[in-house]
Amino acid sequence: MAAPRPHADQINRSRRVLLGALPALAVAGAAACGSGSTGDGDGDSVEKVREKAGPPPRPADPDGAIAALMEGNDRFVARTPKIREVADIEVLWTKLEVGQAPFATVLGCADSRLAPELIFDQFVGDIFVVREAGNIADSPTSLGSLEFSQAVLGSKAIVVLGHSSCGAVQAAFDDATPGGNIQAIVDAIRPGIAGAADLDEAITANVGAVVGRIRAKSAVLADAERAGECRIVGAVYDLASARVRLI
Ligand SMILES: [Zn+2]
Repeated sequence: MAAPRPHADQINRSRRVLLGALPALAVAGAAACGSGSTGDGDGDSVEKVREKAGPPPRPADPDGAIAALMEGNDRFVARTPKIREVADIEVLWTKLEVGQAPFATVLGCADSRLAPELIFDQFVGDIFVVREAGNIADSPTSLGSLEFSQAVLGSKAIVVLGHSSCGAVQAAFDDATPGGNIQAIVDAIRPGIAGAADLDEAITANVGAVVGRIRAKSAVLADAERAGECRIVGAVYDLASARVRLI
């Protein structure tokens, strides 16, 4: 049965209200933060820096959003995180007080080793993160969080992020019966990994299945993807190398 149409009017109203509270951040693609637009070392006061600064750079399209994440992962792998000037952070903090405009969304496993802001080398306000063991988005509330990030906040990419040695996928692969509410996680993963030869294959299959589930269960996101407003992609993080691989 097809998913019901989203309440587009409602979402648009919410978006207008939120964007109305974001005079600066909502203007995507304006002046850059950390590239000379602020803090040029001539002793400006914080107030003057705030006056001169524009919003932080935002990728212009879904491909740009994914590229920005992958470039951030390159920095994380190379142990060369982006250095931000104190003045830039001061400006950013001021803008984040009144709203947010994350350029991408990550649906990641809850595993403690998978902190998306760190492994993509992003700052507060850059990415909208939804986490659940097994990165499954099986509930309306998880799907609703993803929809909110795109339809209301304007996120340009949804990245479903699995990882090597995932215990949730391992449990499903082993047909474990942990009981309690943990069972619901295992049950949600199991169909998507049927036929996998090993754990790595199961992890990749689970990510692919979740991407398919999001498209099937969220008309909001499927429509946005068709319209070119966002992309839904899968990725796997390797714990040993710290590298994210798009699938
Ligand atoms: Zn995991």
